[in-house]
Amino acid sequence: MSKPTVDRMLAGFKSFKAMYYEQRPERVEDLVNMGQKPEVLLIACSDSRVDPAILTNAEPGEMFVVRNVANLVPPYEPDENYHGTSAAIEFAVRDLKVKDIVILGHSGCGGMEALVEHGEAGKVPERDFIGEWVSMAKCCLHHGPDVDEVSRHSICNSLDNLMTFPFIKDRIDAGDLHLHGWWYGMKEGILWQYDSAKGEFVQGL
Ligand SMILES: [Zn+2]
Repeated sequence: MSKPTVDRMLAGFKSFKAMYYEQRPERVEDLVNMGQKPEVLLIACSDSRVDPAILTNAEPGEMFVVRNVANLVPPYEPDENYHGTSAAIEFAVRDLKVKDIVILGHSGCGGMEALVEHGEAGKVPERDFIGEWVSMAKCCLHHGPDVDEVSRHSICNSLDNLMTFPFIKDRIDAGDLHLHGWWYGMKEGILWQYDSAKGEFVQGL
């Protein structure tokens, strides 16, 4: 009988510890003593199949990551509500001064399916939060009903929403911050990249 996942995760931590604390202790010392200085903010879906660090082979300290349902960026709305994604974006851009922001979407996204099915109503039956959350991208619904197509357009919508944050627009205008839209086709193992000049996703890697 195979071990429960949490047991394998604990064994995985032992492997991680051996790789960094025993084989590359200087890397850990740098991260502890110098603090984090990631150059990239990556906004990805919470989907268990699209872990950004695994997909990009990133090392500790390289990416500041926000994950939420359907990798969505809300518009700039400084009010009394709880804005977890916006708070992370603010910290990454204003304090960590990342140089690039990547929005990473993917095929077969459950959050995007919820958007296509219930986004217009803004309410998923018997759920308290999902419908309202994904409805922020309902302007993309006219690209449907293909979920993957809506998913790609929602990345463009999130890129537009990033530009509504004044501290992001200022740094982009100054030329020291760059935005990227990536979309991972899981079945084929292809990473599509948004080409803003063409206004479409082009096959990358
Ligand atoms: Zn997803």
